[in-house]
Amino acid sequence: MKNKAPKLSITRINCIIVMLSVVLCCFVSGCGKKEGYVTKQFFAMDTWMEIQLPESCDDKDLELYFNDVEAIVRKLEACFSVTSTASDLYKLNNDINENVTLDSKELLDILKEGEYLEDLTDGAFCDKLYVISKEWGFTTGNYKVPDKAWLDAEILEIQDIMDDSNTDISVDINESSVIRPVGTCFDLGGIAKGYATDKIVDYLADKGINSAIVNLGGNIYAFGDKQGKEDRFVVGITDPFDNTLLGTVMVKDMAVVTSGNYERYFELDGERYHHIIDSTTGYPADNGLVSVTIISEDASYADGLSTALFVMGLDEAITFWENNRNSFDAILITENNEIYYTEGLLDNFVMTEKPYTCKLVK
Ligand code: AMP
Ligand code: MG
Repeated sequence: MKNKAPKLSITRINCIIVMLSVVLCCFVSGCGKKEGYVTKQFFAMDTWMEIQLPESCDDKDLELYFNDVEAIVRKLEACFSVTSTASDLYKLNNDINENVTLDSKELLDILKEGEYLEDLTDGAFCDKLYVISKEWGFTTGNYKVPDKAWLDAEILEIQDIMDDSNTDISVDINESSVIRPVGTCFDLGGIAKGYATDKIVDYLADKGINSAIVNLGGNIYAFGDKQGKEDRFVVGITDPFDNTLLGTVMVKDMAVVTSGNYERYFELDGERYHHIIDSTTGYPADNGLVSVTIISEDASYADGLSTALFVMGLDEAITFWENNRNSFDAILITENNEIYYTEGLLDNFVMTEKPYTCKLVK
């Protein structure tokens, strides 16, 4: 089981950072150029996004593609926002009827994906935690530690709704409507960027583009062949302890998505409280992991799993990978400075010089 990932020399690391500053890049709104690509940045879904398209594309086409991609994201943002009173999700969350007809195909689609991920991960992925996230202040910025008795009661209700065997209060999503207990409030933050990424990649493929980087706030999709000598893209993985470069993966037609406890959190009385909620307790997941990166062809799936495996903790996450090894690879970082990476990354995960124990999971 034990193995050491190959190490990168600092010079090569610098090269890679300069060449492909995909993760650690400094965002400035607007367009730019990078190594055979034209880039466009914009702020949406509460984060910076960057699209890179080949500079060999016609200028007029590039403008159209960039505008269309931004429009795809803005449309989904307007639909999935949990706080905007105009969003389709807001309407669903606040509807007083049990059966709600939805106009948005995308909302139905993503809710179905959420149900699928919830089943697959035995509830570690749970898109019904909005009321709890809101109480912690993660959706408003008014942070506080909720009352434990209140959390216990809320979690009991949510667990009941998730429990499919209790058909009286389950969630049923069909072609046009959602039937769910009134008061069930969805939060799609664990999957929305992945879903948007998949839509963008579909769009780019449809336009006949054969190479692109889609970076939605660190949710990366390396699409097609990289321009230049090496046909795979080099994507950086962030060190959760100090936000520097931990290593790189070489990928092609893959999403690389990370969930970490350092991404969004607040501190109170010396304690850090982060935004990924354990659906069995209502508290920020505290199962020994500080970062989970998922590499998969499907960005929604990768996004959902990065959140879910973070909640599971190391042992359960490894078992989950063993049972689903054909669909993704993972890099799991523990609070004890251990890095576990799965077999599919054997030849393409490269570590920087860091004092961490690195283990291959087979
Ligand atoms: P990510 O950064 O992809 O791990 O997603 C974190 C976001 O997903 C949070 O900010 C919440 O909006 C939402 N979330 C929190 N806990 C969960 C959970 N257990 N399952 C699904 N979504 C969650
Ligand atoms: Mg996620």
